[in-house]
Amino acid sequence: MSNFWNELESGLQTAVEECEKAGRKAVTKTRRVMRENELRRTLRDKYAELGRLVYDARGQESLDEEEVTSLCISIGAIREALEEMEDAKSAEKKYKICACGRKNDKDAVFCQGCGGRL
Ligand SMILES: [Zn+2]
Repeated sequence: MSNFWNELESGLQTAVEECEKAGRKAVTKTRRVMRENELRRTLRDKYAELGRLVYDARGQESLDEEEVTSLCISIGAIREALEEMEDAKSAEKKYKICACGRKNDKDAVFCQGCGGRL
């Protein structure tokens, strides 16, 4: 009888641990998705700002180059961060993303879209 209780206890323990593990994974994923969405929103805002600057300067030769440069630096940094996130995701999902944007099997050597070496 004590064997039964021991097995039950260790079975429950394992179930609880699995639940905790799954919960932690879900939290990490949610945080990552939120961060990614935030980055995409910021990127969109920066592009809009850049567009407005260029639009306003049109025909006036008053483009604030410093502001444009600073916006471009921000945009570059955000795009890099998003690319890194994309790379991390594809490594997890077990496929490779080619420079052309096509998803390929993790083991693929050449891209199925453009034929380029992966
Ligand atoms: Zn490709």
